[in-house]
Amino acid sequence: MGSPLDILIVGGGIGGLTAAIALRARGHAVTVIERDPSWSVYGVGIIQQGNVIRAMTELGVIDDYLAAGVGFDKVAVHAPDGTLVAQVPSKRLVERYPANLGISRPALHEILGRRAKSGGAEVRLGITPLALDDDGDGVDVSFSDGTAARFDIVVGADGLYSETRAKLFPDAPQPAFTGQAVWRYNLPRRAGLDALHVYNGRIGAGLVPMSDALMYMYVTTPEPGNPRYERDGLASVLRAKLAQHAPDIRTLAEGIVDDDGVVYRPLETLLVTGPWHKGRIVLLGDAVHATTPHLGQGAGMAIEDSLVLADEVSRHDDPEAAFTAYRERRFDRCRYIVDLSLAICRGQLGKGPPVDNALATAEMFQRTAEPI
Ligand SMILES: Cc1cc2nc3c(=O)[nH]c(=O)nc-3n(C[C@H](O)[C@H](O)[C@H](O)COP(=O)(O)OP(=O)(O)OC[C@H]3O[C@@H](n4cnc5c(N)ncnc54)[C@H](O)[C@@H]3O)c2cc1C
Repeated sequence: MGSPLDILIVGGGIGGLTAAIALRARGHAVTVIERDPSWSVYGVGIIQQGNVIRAMTELGVIDDYLAAGVGFDKVAVHAPDGTLVAQVPSKRLVERYPANLGISRPALHEILGRRAKSGGAEVRLGITPLALDDDGDGVDVSFSDGTAARFDIVVGADGLYSETRAKLFPDAPQPAFTGQAVWRYNLPRRAGLDALHVYNGRIGAGLVPMSDALMYMYVTTPEPGNPRYERDGLASVLRAKLAQHAPDIRTLAEGIVDDDGVVYRPLETLLVTGPWHKGRIVLLGDAVHATTPHLGQGAGMAIEDSLVLADEVSRHDDPEAAFTAYRERRFDRCRYIVDLSLAICRGQLGKGPPVDNALATAEMFQRTAEPI
């Protein structure tokens, strides 16, 4: 059994916060640093599945988490003309809780942040590491606010454009634009919307319940050349993209009126196939495996990373042995999610064979039901 460590986590997002909760629960001292002084997240929602419900149970946040979102037990799949073609049941991995949850990102962030702090993690906002000096026995870190400290290990949970990854592995692959983007917008929850509804097609769409009052719509569009859109006029651009969509999506699109409410994101993908650690510094979440959202599993993989990392760090005395075991347990599963999500994306763009969304979703549910 490893002894309690003094741990720095770089990044206070979903991966960093779940790692903080899991590591504190095992008795380690944890400091989280977050570069954004306001520690804010954008206001649309996120889909999470049974493996995340199971993980949230293990992290001890399940009651607040379920109370803040909308649980559901199936995914409804529609043809491009709106016809319902399949209802994919999803298995409950914790019998008394729903199989899936839609939740707003700010609500999820608030729950994880509150739990990390009440569990004893120190959270420092508005700072970033300037230098990480690993001498083999510990890591000396100097921070952007002029302070410095020494830690036993450092966890880089700083997302897709991770500076920690760039420091450790300057030659690691860079995020690659897929040719597709996603648009998201909050709308009043449609009466009777009690599942994720997916609409297939070259322009894909989905409706996700996330509270009693709200759902969010996501729309995937081909965006050759990765154009930049001005914020002014964003709502009318999105409405125009939906002009030929299924009738119920077209009707809902009339409610997309606020430019500031539109969250636009070019879709990028990344998989680090080499090591995920160097010496006493290790990476997790989007910093090493960023997936397109076609299976709704990106955050799920980051959260599972956190549990496995905490487990391995607490099991081994030697950090490098712990980090190697952690990557060993995580790599195939993360690669599966990144690859299958990208295959769906490429199929939608006509850059690869079409992937049957209902089949892919059913297979993903089976695969992610396996223990981590
Ligand atoms: C359009 C879209 C839709 C998605 N939908 C879903 C979904 O429905 N379900 C799902 O499970 N996943 C979804 N995902 C994926 C999910 O959002 C990510 O996988 C998840 O947020 C990764 O968490 P993370 O903590 O690794 O990184 P991030 O969430 O990016 O957090 C990184 C944090 O580190 C901070 N940071 C960065 N650099 C530094 C630094 N140098 N110093 C200090 N702090 C720093 C950032 O400010 C941020 O707070 C989606 C992704 C996209 C793009």
